[in-house]
Amino acid sequence: MSKICLCLTGKTLAHDLEIIEKNRKYVDVAELRVDCLDPDERFRIRRFPEMAGLPVILTIRRESDGGKYQGGEGARISLLAHGLANAFTDPRLNFAYVDLEDYLNVPALEEAARVFGTKIIRSYHNIHGTDDDIVEKLKSLYHVGDELAKIAAMANSLSDVLRMYRASQEMTDMNKILICMGPFGIPSRILADRFGSEFSYTTMAGQSLGAPGQLEPKELSDHYCFKSISNKTKVFGITGFPLRATFSPTFFNTIFKLEDTDAVYVPFPTDNVKTFLELAEALNVSGASVTIPHKTAIIPYLGSQSESVQSIGACNTIISDPRGWIGTNTDASGFSGSLLNFIGKKNLKGKRVTIIGAGGAAHAVAAEVYRLEARALIVNRTAVKAKELALPYGFAWDGLDHHCVEHIKKYADIIIQTTSAGMEPNIGEDPFALYQFSGREVVMDLIYTPECTAFLDRASRAGCQTLNGYDMLIRQAQAQYELFMGKEFPSHLLSRF
Ligand code: NAP
Repeated sequence: MSKICLCLTGKTLAHDLEIIEKNRKYVDVAELRVDCLDPDERFRIRRFPEMAGLPVILTIRRESDGGKYQGGEGARISLLAHGLANAFTDPRLNFAYVDLEDYLNVPALEEAARVFGTKIIRSYHNIHGTDDDIVEKLKSLYHVGDELAKIAAMANSLSDVLRMYRASQEMTDMNKILICMGPFGIPSRILADRFGSEFSYTTMAGQSLGAPGQLEPKELSDHYCFKSISNKTKVFGITGFPLRATFSPTFFNTIFKLEDTDAVYVPFPTDNVKTFLELAEALNVSGASVTIPHKTAIIPYLGSQSESVQSIGACNTIISDPRGWIGTNTDASGFSGSLLNFIGKKNLKGKRVTIIGAGGAAHAVAAEVYRLEARALIVNRTAVKAKELALPYGFAWDGLDHHCVEHIKKYADIIIQTTSAGMEPNIGEDPFALYQFSGREVVMDLIYTPECTAFLDRASRAGCQTLNGYDMLIRQAQAQYELFMGKEFPSHLLSRF
């Protein structure tokens, strides 16, 4: 089973000990990054394992490998030797591991480590990218049976993560640590056990980062239930790009934990949906949410699709099936359930509605507005997309510019904002600034982070009834849960959010 390693990047040993105390219940191992310590502190490292009270890795990383060590190689070797010197017969008082880079060939250091039971991590770092020949690299790192081979490589895309996974499957018998650095590498950190990696490295928030993409120990341990992930654990996830402002991992992982379900929900950021599907198949992912910008792009790769996907032209949920991915759409029912509940009606008969935007979410909204018998106007920055979406429903359409204001006034009972403008990190953006609210409109924004967008705030200050996208999100996620798990959503757990 993989272990959680806490990367210690404090300037003093006292600070590193404080970090251990704050995270002790989440972590199994600590890595003392001697290169991050103040120079005076570096000569006091020998007693650190005894003070730490858990297995410690001794590491002195050079700048060229992503560390902070700027001194000469001779001084670095002396410092490593100092950390291993005067070993105690009780192994708990010595460093449990020493990290030696593949190019560091100093037999005396290796000898000192072996005599007193300090395991050698033979490491290779590529802070720029992932090498083509991962398997060959792993083989070259593996010198002696009791060593751990470590590759930490920057993933510049999800296909680098896929290649790392495939390499891990070719080397299942080897004791190893595999890390895909950077935001694309997050699945390799959460699913370290599936990657056959002995450790997943973490850093406490607020510390200078050990390596890009590291999660916090509490997040990995409590939120993703890292220590209970095994080969039997069902894996779900979400794919999109850049996938910053998503609540779905919190939603699903909280429900799985409260229900004691052996499942985990993992973010898979990627700009290439085909690569995601390849990795998902390799990792045996049971189902996934699909978000911006892949809701349409994923359709050609589906084995079958629900009626909702066919009519809306956007898919936000996929479920694994031996005959190929089954695609469906839960945004539509999530949206209409939320809006109807808010206005206390069963349909939108007689209502005149403006839909702002013509992307994936707007497709689901338009289909539901049509089904619920309203008349609508679609306005979009790219007018031709508004036209393409509006025509099949017989809706009016227009470009999102000053000319459309008079047009909007005729469709102003309900105004629904479906663009991503105003969503984190572009807080403050208002795609509808050209329109002055009268205060009589019901106004919905599909965005839920931030809770109140500039658009919604303006509507609320004008006296409109306003609704953000959180309730829709929860409703569509409940529907996804039912598709993923094949059972009713445990509604009583909603109060935990
Ligand atoms: P999408 O397919 O990428 O569509 C983006 C839409 O936003 C397009 O119409 C685009 O116009 C427009 N747009 C982007 N930036 C704009 C700007 N600066 N000014 C004006 N228009 C702009 O995205 P999506 O999947 O539809 O998602 C859109 C939003 O809905 C996101 O914020 C997402 O979080 C939210 N959403 C919420 C839920 C929920 O459950 N609450 C569910 C689904 C989606 P062009 O055509 O001109 O590019």
